[in-house]
Formats: sequence, structure tokens, C-alpha cells
Amino acid sequence: MVKIGIDLGGTKIEVIALDEGGREILRRRVETPQGDYHGTLGMITRLVEEAEADLGQRGTVGIGTPGAISRATGLLKNSNSVCLNRQPVLQDVQTLLNRTVRISNDANCFALSEATDGAGVGAQVVFGVIVGTGTGGGVVIDGKIITGPNAIAGEWGHNPLPWPRNDERPGPPCYCGQSGCIETFLSGPGMSGDHERATGECLKPRDIVKHALSGDPSAEATLRRYEDRMARSLAHVINILDPDVIVLGGGMSNIHRLYERVPRLWGGYVFSDRVDTRLVAPKHGDSSGVRGAAWLWPAGTGVEDRRQDKR
Ligand SMILES: [Zn+2]
Repeated sequence: MVKIGIDLGGTKIEVIALDEGGREILRRRVETPQGDYHGTLGMITRLVEEAEADLGQRGTVGIGTPGAISRATGLLKNSNSVCLNRQPVLQDVQTLLNRTVRISNDANCFALSEATDGAGVGAQVVFGVIVGTGTGGGVVIDGKIITGPNAIAGEWGHNPLPWPRNDERPGPPCYCGQSGCIETFLSGPGMSGDHERATGECLKPRDIVKHALSGDPSAEATLRRYEDRMARSLAHVINILDPDVIVLGGGMSNIHRLYERVPRLWGGYVFSDRVDTRLVAPKHGDSSGVRGAAWLWPAGTGVEDRRQDKR
């Protein structure tokens, strides 16, 4: 049975189809209709119908999107595509596609993708982290996403930076209303802001890394602060969840030295004489979100038709 995955982002909607073995057999990308809830639903429907016409078969449909479906109300919340918030996205898509659809947070889909056939394959507990413009996280145990009653399992980015030093308190203000959240230090803008506070120089993370590699001591110092903060932040997760594997995703996961340096530092914070957790780069890179959406229906599962919802 073919598995259709949709990554519903604020600027792009991407669709992918995988065969049972995880081989990609179709991929398409379109612009997200801006500020148009019904237009977005129509686009999703069209993408699925066209994919199925091209493939000559019906498939399962999974959707990954920022935010989460509230268990209490069934409505989407916390999405940066604000026109989707407080809408019955899942119910409406199921009605339009006449089948049961699964939907999950994009960081959860990332973790699921890497746990299913990526860098975390074979591991019992996988913590997937997206460190880019923000910091998302998802937990997969025995191949299943852990959601939780509040639909926020794995959302570590708005916890405070652990073991803060005096010059890290209260920390930069965060859009969530708190100050000193992990996201304000570990996101891409967080690294740029930290470098600017230390040097007065406004640089993108990519350039800070480049300058550090060419021997610039202030850029090197910024990277070292970043690595220690990531080590502290992940040590906190290890102390609670004790994952086998932590997979980094998002733009900051392209900083290669993190995989060597951060595990060297986190031993100083983890409550254990040794730390066997692995910190690894994603196998599927930017495709992990949409692949994970497809894997919301694991190998061996099929389409469940639905009768029209009576609301
Ligand atoms: Zn915050």
C-alpha cells in the first residue's frame, strides 16, 4: 500500500509517496495559499487526488504540520500558519478525502522518520530535535510517537536554559512570554543574537561557523558557548527520558562539530558515571518531516474508508 505524506508548512506544502519499503515514488511541492483555510484544504485534496491518479492507486494519508491537535477540542493549536489555528483541520481533511487521515506535529514526524528508517533505526527511544528558526522536539518509543494529554511531549524549547550562569540570567525575552527559554539560545536567531551581544557583530550562524573555522577567536567563543548550552539542554532531556539516540534536525544540525563536541560536554551534566546516548545527524535531512508524515501509517497498515462525518 502506497503511503502519502504531506508536510503542511507556512510557505510550502510538500507531498511525497513512499512504497512499503520506504522508497520515494513521487514528490511535489506547491506554495501554501496564504491566509486561506479552505484554499489550503482544497490544495491538500488536489495534491492527494493527483498523486493517486498518477500512481494508479489509493494510499494512506499522513500530515505533518507545526502545532498540534488539541485533545480537548480536536482543533489545531500553536501553528505558525495562523489561519489553521482553532480549525477542525483533521475532521475537514478526512471528510474531503473520505478516509481516516493521521496528523502530527512536524517535529514528531521528523523523529518518527529518523526512528523508522533513518539515523535512529533500531533504537528503542529516539528523541528528535529540530533546531532551526525555532526549537521543536519529538519522542518516539518502540516506533510510536508519544503525544501526551497536552499534545506537547518532547517540546523542550520553552523550558529555561538549565544550569544558567550569572550572565545568562534572566536571558533574552521569548515570544512565549518567558525569558531565557532554550529556544532563545539554541535557535539560529538565538546564536546570532548571542554573538551580537558579545561582539556587536550581526552574523548568520553559517557565517559564525565559517569565521570560527578560519580562526576568528570571537566566533570560536560563540560556538563554544553554543555547544555548552546545547550540552546542558540535552543533558536535561537525557536525565528525564534517557533516549538511546538524539537526532538533530533543522538548519543548526549542519554544524558538524556539534556531534563530537556536545557529547564530550554533556557528561558533566548528566546524572550518570557514563553516557551512552548517541548524538547523530539526520539520515533523511530536510526530507525527514514529510517522510515521517507518510510513516504515520507504518508498513503493513492500509486505508480506512470513512462515512461522511455527521457534525
Ligand atoms: Zn519561550
